[in-house]
Amino acid sequence: MTQLAVHNPATGERIAELPADDAASVAAKARAARMAQADWAALSLQERKACIAHFRDGVVRDLEALAVTMTRETGKPIRMSRNELNGLLPRIDFFLKEIDRTIATETVFDEGGMKERIEHVPLGVVGNISAWNYPWFVGCNVILPALLTGNAVLYKPSELASLTGLEIARLLHQAGVPKDVFVPLVGGGDVGAALLEQPVDGIFFTGSHATGQRIAQAVGSRFIRLQLELGGKDPTYVCDDADPRAAAQSLADGAMYNTGQSCCSVERIYVHERIHDAFVAAFVETVQGFKVGDPMSEDTYIGAITRAAQLDVLDAQVTDAKAKGAVLHVGGHRLPGPGNWYAPTVFGNADHRMALMREESFGPIIGIQKVTSDEEAVALMNDSRYGLTAGVYTPSAERARGLLAQLHAGSLYWNCCDRVSPRLPWSGYGDSGVGLTLSKYGIQAFTRPRAWHLRSA
Ligand code: NAD
Repeated sequence: MTQLAVHNPATGERIAELPADDAASVAAKARAARMAQADWAALSLQERKACIAHFRDGVVRDLEALAVTMTRETGKPIRMSRNELNGLLPRIDFFLKEIDRTIATETVFDEGGMKERIEHVPLGVVGNISAWNYPWFVGCNVILPALLTGNAVLYKPSELASLTGLEIARLLHQAGVPKDVFVPLVGGGDVGAALLEQPVDGIFFTGSHATGQRIAQAVGSRFIRLQLELGGKDPTYVCDDADPRAAAQSLADGAMYNTGQSCCSVERIYVHERIHDAFVAAFVETVQGFKVGDPMSEDTYIGAITRAAQLDVLDAQVTDAKAKGAVLHVGGHRLPGPGNWYAPTVFGNADHRMALMREESFGPIIGIQKVTSDEEAVALMNDSRYGLTAGVYTPSAERARGLLAQLHAGSLYWNCCDRVSPRLPWSGYGDSGVGLTLSKYGIQAFTRPRAWHLRSA
């Protein structure tokens, strides 16, 4: 059997060897899931909810050990691992509270002996191919509503977060979800590709644009439910009436939290010329205060780069930005190993000729560009093939509303950034993907609305 080696990106050490799946085991697991799904869907919603509530109890009980596992395999600073797990609890609560009314059968017409009803039935067996950067969040955004609505789930965690993926499986199984209803698949892209070959009823993917395109090509002609949550190049505009220091502190966190490896990290910043210099000075000062180091230390803010190959992307963006006239304020280089490390990096005088302002960086690096008007800022923010989130900093609600309404992005932020709420839909424009998770719509995404025409006589 093939093995998957798991490395700690902060030290380079091999920390585990996992038995990996192959095409034959994926096919066998898919067949078993198909057999098991009907019984799971036949349980009452209250019974399925009880399993997910027990899963929540398991997360609370094991939280510290789960945080350590995630930190060891991803290099995420330990406080941020705990934050992710603590942040998962209100998401679970949201799903448990929202599910009844969201999938309740609706009678939409009742006249003269004729009734019309909408019933929300599960899709059946769904595949979830997931990313490593927030493995609990992005995994559970799919897994929990899929299970609650009566689907079986074949779950392929990232090869860079497989220990966490197996912990999710352990806790779901301990909580009463049958082993053939929630099925982890261990391995890399080849195992993900093998999952796409199975006769599933939906594919829910979180990851890069390049892989998303491959997945769309592989399953597009099968007309199954397909959701792709992809990358971003999320912009923020700081208006001339904003407090430059407060905005800088908030946006430095938005750009560098989780070592910049968030799909909704702030990736480019536009600042009005009137407050530009004060903003940049405060931004650089904030970033210089971020402690880089051992992800297991309580005071570490910048951890390791999880995917070693990303170091080359960051180097290339730095070289390109310098060559095109960007001003390097801090960082701009790798840090010594072992492990994968990059210095938090801030460029001023950035512009749209640079990959830094056009392509996802997915690391602790940011470009800042000076603008002279709101119109210029809006045009630059919309000059992107991505559209996940976008934000504006200004004390004026009216100005913020007017600016935000013009932006091509799935989530809009006023005086905040890098924020996800279970109550709101999470989706992107353009190359940031198709479909959505979270909110009542992200629960219905795992169901098919079926039409009943009922004449009583
Ligand atoms: P990735 O595309 O490299 O991998 C994602 C998953 O796809 C992994 O499980 C991988 O094994 C699998 N995979 C790779 N090749 C495959 C193939 N040919 N067929 C099937 N599966 C295959 O992405 P990543 O590095 O894990 O994640 C980082 C990316 O995810 C970033 O671009 C980030 O912006 C994005 N992301 C988006 C969201 C969102 O909600 N929009 C959330 C988190 C991360």
